[in-house]
Amino acid sequence: MTDRDESVCPHCGEKMKKWDPGAESTWECKFVWVCFNDDCPYFVRGWDHMMSSQQIRASYRHRRIPGTSDTGPLAVWSPYALRDGIIED
Ligand SMILES: [Zn+2]
Repeated sequence: MTDRDESVCPHCGEKMKKWDPGAESTWECKFVWVCFNDDCPYFVRGWDHMMSSQQIRASYRHRRIPGTSDTGPLAVWSPYALRDGIIED
C-alpha cells in the first residue's frame, strides 16, 4: 500500500462521512471527514475513557481535515449527536 485513502478511518477501516462543521467552526474547510461508525473501536472505547477520566457521559469520533494529516477526536454526547451535519454525496 502506498497512499492511504484519507477518507478511510484508521481505527475501523470504514469509509468516513463528510461532515459540515457549521458556520461557527474555526476550521476553514467546507467539510471534515468523520467516522460515524458506531462500532468503531475508537468511538466504543471513548465512552469508558471519558467516564473514568472526566466523569462525563460522552465519547468522541475520529475526524480528519481533508487534504492534511490533521486528525483528532471530535467529542459527541450520544451516538446520534452531530449526524445532522452529515453531507450525503
Ligand atoms: Zn472508525
